[in-house]
Amino acid sequence: MITTAQQLAATGKVDMLRAGIWKPRTKPGMFEGIGVKGLPWLKKASQITGLPVTIEVANAKQVQDALAFEIDVLWIGARTTVNPFSVQEVADALRGVDIPVLIKNPVNPDPDLWSGAVERIARAGIKKIGLIHRGFSSYGNTDYRNAPMWHLAIDMKLKYPDLLFINDPSHICGRRDILKDVMQKAVDLDYDGFIIESHGDPDHAWSDAAQQVTPAILSRMLDEIIWRKEDTTSEDFLSALEKLRVQINQLDDELMQILSRRMKIADQIGSYKKDNNITILQTTRWNEVMDRAISNGENLGLSKDFIQKYFDAVHLESINHQKRIMDGEM
Ligand code: PEP
Ligand code: MN
Repeated sequence: MITTAQQLAATGKVDMLRAGIWKPRTKPGMFEGIGVKGLPWLKKASQITGLPVTIEVANAKQVQDALAFEIDVLWIGARTTVNPFSVQEVADALRGVDIPVLIKNPVNPDPDLWSGAVERIARAGIKKIGLIHRGFSSYGNTDYRNAPMWHLAIDMKLKYPDLLFINDPSHICGRRDILKDVMQKAVDLDYDGFIIESHGDPDHAWSDAAQQVTPAILSRMLDEIIWRKEDTTSEDFLSALEKLRVQINQLDDELMQILSRRMKIADQIGSYKKDNNITILQTTRWNEVMDRAISNGENLGLSKDFIQKYFDAVHLESINHQKRIMDGEM
């Protein structure tokens, strides 16, 4: 670990060392962390490299051990954020302590659980709180170990604009070959930083070997990322951007008007269905609508996935309208 830490420090691109002293594992019998005896090792790595260190804590005892060893930053893992009892236990153990706490998203895609954890830690008096986006479990998902569901993370960023916002590409990807794509995406979405797993001999890492990279590869990936700024002061760029934004607003207004017209026609169909005692949902008709939309949309350069999501939302709104008509509420 010390060798890896030294290599990481030597890149000059690492601000902090992360290590799991206690590791929550899905199945028993896997490597569950080295435990308390690893804390002095970590302190040693910190002293040698001059870098602060962060570990995951999931209960009061772990918080006390971490504080006793003057760990610089704590993080709450995804499997803890899901459990309000555990988050509260950690929060109570932190009352009156001045230490930064990073909170990973819960395993399941539930933004309220994530913000609930933020509130519990904030109420314990912790001032420096950060968010870590590590993706969400989803059954049958193949590309990622944990589906990023970027929109959920962006909603959190919008809700808590002052909190540090970190991306965890290692746990999103679960494999090293796609790490850089996720890193680039996070940079493009203006995240503040990364938490990435690195190991001197990745293939022999005792946990999550497939997602570990050597410090040298980590350093190269960080060099290859294209860093973009959120804002610029260049006049030309700003006026060009302003013109395009006016066009976007105009198109959005038109889209809303068209959608409202579409909904009014759906209402009329709803009345006919009611008068003729026909069910709201007619599967064959809906399949026809979707097929038309997908083939038209794809010709226009829109992805099938987007068209499906968009039309599902439109369809749901139509059904809700027609249901109100059937129930005599409209
Ligand atoms: C980890 O960071 O090593 C870890 C266990 O991650 P998560 O809480 O995201 O599953
Ligand atoms: Mn891990």
